[in-house]
Amino acid sequence: MYTIKAYLLDLKSDYHVHSNYNDHSSKELSIEKVTRYAEQINLSTLAFTEHVRKTSDWIPKYLEEIDRIHSSGTKINIISGFEAKILKDGTVDFPEGYEGYFLIASFHTTYYDKQIWLSALKSTISLPYVKVIGHLAPEGSFELTDNELIELSKLLNENTKTVELNAKYRRPPMRWLQIFKNNNVNFHLGSDAHQLAEVGNFNSIANLIEFINN
Ligand SMILES: [Zn+2]
Ligand SMILES: [Zn+2]
Repeated sequence: MYTIKAYLLDLKSDYHVHSNYNDHSSKELSIEKVTRYAEQINLSTLAFTEHVRKTSDWIPKYLEEIDRIHSSGTKINIISGFEAKILKDGTVDFPEGYEGYFLIASFHTTYYDKQIWLSALKSTISLPYVKVIGHLAPEGSFELTDNELIELSKLLNENTKTVELNAKYRRPPMRWLQIFKNNNVNFHLGSDAHQLAEVGNFNSIANLIEFINN
């Protein structure tokens, strides 16, 4: 039987947080400081999802530091993860050997051709090691039809992918969310924090959260 999922987004879980392992986040964003801040604001789940590329050489150190925090006895459920860029050919810029980690795949470049964008997205959704599609949104130069969004919903569900509600970009747009929700797509929250005060802060998408939770 067809039923619409009745669930609430967990405001105490942030599934998209950056750290000072990239070159553009605030220096204060150390794994340690983010974790202590998350404890202060009573987060229950915190996913570190640093920007990664095939060429990233800091991964072992990053994972080791997160492991150290784990064993320091924090009550927060800490997830070791990455955010990787979706490439035009539908693969992601992600190094081999880390497929077991929590992985967000996101578009980080502007596409002007809808078919290339859509086909890259569909291929990425079918990759088994991608868990989440990050800040999903239309490009300025094109829009998806309702039918295309319904088809995307089906693909997301078949491949058990989660669509993130992203506080930094305020995405996906409401119309997309309406169709995704009607088609039982799974959602969670990501602040996409690049500064400490942004961790666990979803104020900018209060309207999107309310829509999903009601
Ligand atoms: Zn991103
Ligand atoms: Zn991000």
